[in-house]
Amino acid sequence: MVHTCGMAKKSNSTVRPSKSISELLRLPKGPVNMASLDPAGRPGYPGHGKSDADGYTAAIGPILADLQERLFANGKSTPVDAKRVLLVLQGMDTSGKGGVITHAVGLVDPQGVHIKGFKAPTPEELSHDFLWRIRNALPDPGMIGIFDRSHYEDVLVVRVENLVPVSEWDGRYDLINTFEAELAAAGYLIIKCFLNISPGEQKLRLAARLADPSKYWKYNPRDVNAHEKWGAYMEAYKDALERCNTDAAPWYVIPSDRKWYRNWAIAEILKEQLVAQGFTWPAANFDVAAEKARVAAI
Ligand code: AMP
Ligand code: MG
Repeated sequence: MVHTCGMAKKSNSTVRPSKSISELLRLPKGPVNMASLDPAGRPGYPGHGKSDADGYTAAIGPILADLQERLFANGKSTPVDAKRVLLVLQGMDTSGKGGVITHAVGLVDPQGVHIKGFKAPTPEELSHDFLWRIRNALPDPGMIGIFDRSHYEDVLVVRVENLVPVSEWDGRYDLINTFEAELAAAGYLIIKCFLNISPGEQKLRLAARLADPSKYWKYNPRDVNAHEKWGAYMEAYKDALERCNTDAAPWYVIPSDRKWYRNWAIAEILKEQLVAQGFTWPAANFDVAAEKARVAAI
């Protein structure tokens, strides 16, 4: 298993992760064996489980919100130099891309977040190269952009459903790497998460949608067709993970059979990656003493 627990027991028997969650869930470079990626694992989780996960996730909130505000402030103050964050969420239907947006991304001020979902391309989008609509949806300086599906669909569903010939999709891995390297060089912090669920868990979640009229809107009969092609999708995911796993745009594999772990882990990775940026508050672009004096005199 790639997701070894990574926990070290302390003498007082408190269990603490010996590595960051980013390190634990970062997909190692090199060949990928999909069967070795455990969808039900909970590497690095510091608590007991579902019962305390809301508390652990909520505790990340104020830290993440502060980091996001610093990022946003820099975007307003010095847009040319400011970072932009791009969180790419990929996974099979029901893997929880929407749930992550609600529970992890929802911890920060929505004004600093730009969410974009990618559906089957429109005729206009199809008239351009596959990265055209992606470039148009990139976050502004200081913003956290969330991609609910992404350019990876163009080597996933497109490949499995034979929507373009192999000669065309096979060239896209290199195009994606070049594109992502350009973004990183331009100041984007790219975090790509593969929400890894098992086919058994997907079946349960599809059944749950059918069992509850308030969830019918989430159900799409086409999801069953994709489920039947699970093997082909996993082959396509394997290549996407293996061929596009760069330092500029790394993949994290998120065990997602447990919703509470998935949400906590992505919030934690986002926090860790933003902490690593060392954001400072932007300096005033005015004379603070003079402005204090003016305000005092009002
Ligand atoms: P959902 O995210 O469940 O609303 O579904 C969006 C659908 O759009 C999924 O079935 C995707 O596979 C599909 N989709 C997204 N991007 C593409 C693409 N580039 N080509 C074809 N289908 C796509
Ligand atoms: Mg869906």
